[in-house]
Amino acid sequence: KDGGARVMYWFRTDLRLHDSPALQAALDLKPQAFFPLWCWDPNYIYKHRVGINRFRFLLESMSALSSSLHSLNPLSQLLVVRGDPCDLLPELFKRWGITHLAFERDPNDEYVRQRDDQARKDAKANGVEVLDGYGHHLYDIREVLKAHNNEPTLTLGALQSAVSKFGDPAKPIDAPKSIPSPLLKDDVASPPQDIKDLLPKLLKSLEGLPEYSKKKGPEYDLNSHELGGQRSTGESGKVTCYDSLVGPDASESIKSTFSVPTLESLGMDAKAARVSVPSLIPGGEAEGLKRLERVIKDTKYIATFSKPKTSPCQDTSEASTTLLSPYLKFGCVSVRKFWWDAVEASKQYKGAGKTSPPENIQGQLLFREMYSVAEAGVGETYKRVHANPISRYIDWYLPTVYDSKGKEIIPRPAGDAASEARYAAFVEARTGFPFIDAAVKQLKTTGWIHHLARHSLASFLTRGQCWISWERGAEFFDEHLIDWDPASNPGNWMWLSCSAFFHQYYRVYGLATFPQKYDPSGSLIRKYCPELKDFPDKHIYAPHTAPLEVQRKAKCEIGKDYPAPILDEKKEKEHCIARMKVAYAKGWRGDAKEVLEGKAQEI
Ligand code: FAD
Repeated sequence: KDGGARVMYWFRTDLRLHDSPALQAALDLKPQAFFPLWCWDPNYIYKHRVGINRFRFLLESMSALSSSLHSLNPLSQLLVVRGDPCDLLPELFKRWGITHLAFERDPNDEYVRQRDDQARKDAKANGVEVLDGYGHHLYDIREVLKAHNNEPTLTLGALQSAVSKFGDPAKPIDAPKSIPSPLLKDDVASPPQDIKDLLPKLLKSLEGLPEYSKKKGPEYDLNSHELGGQRSTGESGKVTCYDSLVGPDASESIKSTFSVPTLESLGMDAKAARVSVPSLIPGGEAEGLKRLERVIKDTKYIATFSKPKTSPCQDTSEASTTLLSPYLKFGCVSVRKFWWDAVEASKQYKGAGKTSPPENIQGQLLFREMYSVAEAGVGETYKRVHANPISRYIDWYLPTVYDSKGKEIIPRPAGDAASEARYAAFVEARTGFPFIDAAVKQLKTTGWIHHLARHSLASFLTRGQCWISWERGAEFFDEHLIDWDPASNPGNWMWLSCSAFFHQYYRVYGLATFPQKYDPSGSLIRKYCPELKDFPDKHIYAPHTAPLEVQRKAKCEIGKDYPAPILDEKKEKEHCIARMKVAYAKGWRGDAKEVLEGKAQEI
């Protein structure tokens, strides 16, 4: 085709330039033209609850990437388009004379797998060659799955044994020093001098594209359970946020600009949503690499990292763990670079107390692989209880309900009023248990909480006290976590609810005793539940146990100025353990049939 490769590089989970094998393979072709594309996919937007913190991080990361591309070539930037990639890509192949489509493989989530298969087929049909490298994980998840006989990995040992066949993860590769321009064929001989002249030509080439928003819009029912717009669980998610991405202005935006939208242009108001402004976790490759460098510099911290000893009681700005998860989620930092930098830092440290998997940094990164292989092995049903071959079936209150075919999700019934009230209290941070409420507020405000705070929330909501399905908890995290991941989020919720991966259901996190071990003075509570800030240390984790005169002195009467506990911690714990015993004895797995047939017995 005119003698030169014309590459479309489709950015998705890899908002970076360093250590990107697919990008490197694309650039090795020495292409005549190079189109860095980002596609707002309505399926993604509607199928997931995306809270404002994640949107902000994503937009910041896209802007940073666009600037990096521009600094490598003044005629380049991220070309942001809106629409279903399965419709849009074939059109762009033709209009831009594409010869190669390059992208980083995204191994998790059934929709994504199907979308990428379709993109491959469309590429083939248009004579476009696909270059897909892997880079989102340490290992190629598909290959690890094969090495594990296509079975989901349910323990770290199983994962380690499967990856042992592949040796160490690949070493990271450097970022490119230059990239070619996104030139239409007619412009190759004499390219425009300025990007301001180039973009209108590219925009003109999109004229007549179908208006995806109108075509796709009616398929999405915002009231249905999975989409969840109306059931948004916090101040941050309003339906309009999702709507405006593919709303009536979408086709207009394609015509007018390729630029990264702002939160405001998407109808989101960070201040009104009461999220932390400015962000404690700024998006982008440079920010991620800066954070990585900072943690790696402390060789003792890296070499002796022991996850269970890190504190869940610190605010996001002082995180006791690396806080690199948002950067890994959007691919701003390469996981292989993280791995190898940590290996080097550990080597340099000559002191005592070096740690190893599972508790060290490498162990953490391997957990991420374990969940990804598990997700890839289970497929579509991984994110729910029903028909999920690895999730033990437990008769939670507020389960998700499926239709009689066991496939399509039907709107959930209201559930029993008491459980709905518990769930509402949880997501609105008014359970009366200060550590739980503070962690929920921290999550909603900053988009991140420590792993053990996630443990505390997940245990409390499911088999610890509330007996609510892990799916409901996972869906709350879906919306608020910046680092939300289709494999790690459901996987960890299954772990914490003792539905899969972990089974010691009699080990329940104390709502006061557990966090108290890490921070007796309750600083997280004082920050996020300021009405409790004048309580003495002795009562900060359980203010309802303080005598009335102590409450009055702290200017906060429990039940009036701060909620009384919504349940009896000890009684509910015993109740839940008894129910878990029965559920384990029944040994149900992945099948809600009994419930649908009305056979599940109240215990
Ligand atoms: P560090 O302790 O510094 O670990 C380094 C990296 O290792 C992390 O960035 C992360 O990529 C990986 N990692 C560490 N622990 C885990 C783990 N248990 N599972 C998977 N990866 C891990 N992590 C996500 O990335 N996305 C999620 O959606 C997610 N949902 C969770 C839900 C629940 C209920 C629980 C209990 C945990 C969840 N985690 C999730 C795992 C873990 O809490 C976060 O990865 C971690 O807290 C991120 O902070 P960090 O980067 O400082 O972690």
